[in-house]
Amino acid sequence: MPRCRVCGRRAKYYVPWSNAWFCPEHFIRYVERSVFRVYEKYIGGRHRRVLFAVSGGKDSVSLLHILAPKLLSEGVDVSILFIDLGIEGYTSKALKIVEENASMLKIPLIVSRLRDYGYTITDVAELYFKKLLRRPVCSICGMVKRYLMNRIAYEEGYDLVLTGHTLDDAAAFTLVNILSGRIDELVKIKPYNPGNHKLIARGKPLLFTYEAETKWYVEARNLPVLRVKCPYTPVEEGLVSEIKAMLHRLEERHPGIMRMYMRNLIDKLQPAISREIKESRLVYCSVCGMPSSTDPCGFCRIRSRILELKRGVEG
Ligand SMILES: [Zn+2]
Ligand SMILES: [Zn+2]
Repeated sequence: MPRCRVCGRRAKYYVPWSNAWFCPEHFIRYVERSVFRVYEKYIGGRHRRVLFAVSGGKDSVSLLHILAPKLLSEGVDVSILFIDLGIEGYTSKALKIVEENASMLKIPLIVSRLRDYGYTITDVAELYFKKLLRRPVCSICGMVKRYLMNRIAYEEGYDLVLTGHTLDDAAAFTLVNILSGRIDELVKIKPYNPGNHKLIARGKPLLFTYEAETKWYVEARNLPVLRVKCPYTPVEEGLVSEIKAMLHRLEERHPGIMRMYMRNLIDKLQPAISREIKESRLVYCSVCGMPSSTDPCGFCRIRSRILELKRGVEG
């Protein structure tokens, strides 16, 4: 019977990349400590009003429970943001889970509704399936989430937004960027982006945390998480998911290789690449006033297109 590396009791979780067995209690501490270390190294104590973007999935729920109590104990003002994308049969379940987590931790919850801007992701999906929109649903959804996160944080006076992006996705995504030569995208994936003016600082404290760790963390702590997948998750996710599967195979024979890659990318490769590329110039969207690389911004452009298509479909 394997024993916990810390206390010697019966172990439940084997962590290959640390070559260690843990009991549930010490596994929880191990994960928390590793996330604290990332937070302290890259983000630190410079922010006083922090917004956790929580979707209800295991990653953002883990991040919230790992970090929010610690920040609260340091006197930081903490809130949760849930973005209601209006996905039928899905959003209401997700919101219930997020509400449950918010009340467990007694943290205020802000709900931002895409419907208030005149449409939902279900509308986007219908237009996409009718071939009236070319851009895939997940791509529009991702852009909408990033926009609303920043806008709400700005309007409500938060100085940092934290999201639950984990290592597995980030490793696969950055490798795809290397393969396709998109170096400007490659340098955007980082544990901390300081922002400026209307661009609120963004942090990804789980960037070195394996998905398996958040899965076991919510299990060990028996936290409420959303068990259903978004109905628009593509069956075939293309290159990113193939790379991810490849990384998981590599990881079996070389435990820790994904984390090592991410460390080297963030600490060594990115600083070198950043020196070579020009920062993209930001303008302010003439419709909504938020910063963007284009005018109107991506959000306002797609919004007016969707509203126009909806009028056409309905009228
Ligand atoms: Zn133990
Ligand atoms: Zn705009």
